[in-house]
Amino acid sequence: MSGSDEKKPDQSIRLGKSFRIGLSGPPGVGKSTFIEAFGMYLVSKGYRVSVLAVDPSSARTGGSILGDKTRMTELSRNDMAYVRPSPSRGTLAAGYDICLVETVGVGQSETMVADIVDMFVLLVPPAGGDELQGMKKGIMELSDLVIVNKSDGALVDSARYAQIEYTSALKFVKATTSYWKARVIRVSSMGGPEAGVGLAWDTMKEYFDIMESSGELQKKRGQQRKIWMWRQVSSELLDLLHEDTQVREMAIELEAKVLKNEMMSGAAAHQIVEKFMKGMTTS
Ligand code: GDP
Repeated sequence: MSGSDEKKPDQSIRLGKSFRIGLSGPPGVGKSTFIEAFGMYLVSKGYRVSVLAVDPSSARTGGSILGDKTRMTELSRNDMAYVRPSPSRGTLAAGYDICLVETVGVGQSETMVADIVDMFVLLVPPAGGDELQGMKKGIMELSDLVIVNKSDGALVDSARYAQIEYTSALKFVKATTSYWKARVIRVSSMGGPEAGVGLAWDTMKEYFDIMESSGELQKKRGQQRKIWMWRQVSSELLDLLHEDTQVREMAIELEAKVLKNEMMSGAAAHQIVEKFMKGMTTS
């Protein structure tokens, strides 16, 4: 590719707003190394890139411990990139061609991330067998692309093995959309674009193009907005409930009973909701 081509990002992404990509994987798999290399590659192609992170321990508020600037030194210094620790939903994609949302593959955070991104990418280490057994089926079901990272040096063979294992494991997993079959590729985040970072982008771009041209992307985003609407409803209702002093008084008693096993948790929950509803209708 010539130098001038590299500075012309694809217009379908630039004009079609942001392409949001979720990246998940266990600690140590190489997420920040990959994001640094991948982000620099995208920037070299002329894309504006933002990197956000979701902290699994505070999924509800969207706080964060990841994505700190020290972990992506080169990328965070680049004018075309924006590395930031705490995402807030509204500002997720504003003004950037590609938005990378990172999360550690534990807890609820990956489901939350899968519900805000266009494509969910799982990074895995170059080992199969036992590690794959331990991998939750749930996270495979969310994944549109699995990247076996560290496919370099002495690890290439085990990376190949992992690629085969994950490919066959995916055969038993329901696809996220009928327009795309999840793939498994090998990447070395330390070997430059030729070592797989370029292939990773080509694959993601192919996904984006298929999803965009078929109208599936718009549909998916609509579904996600619906999910977030109901999440917001639950969260606001719960806030109201907790603010209600009468409910609070009653809840303290019920909690004590549940703790001592004098009352079933379901029955207590029901009473709390009833109390709250009564308060709402009489106020
Ligand atoms: P994270 O916890 O998932 O963000 O992982 P890091 O990016 O901090 O990487 C963990 C370790 O794996 C570091 O020592 C990296 O240097 C190393 N690492 C990351 N990517 C690669 C790779 O592609 N090849 C090799 N050999 N090591 C890598």
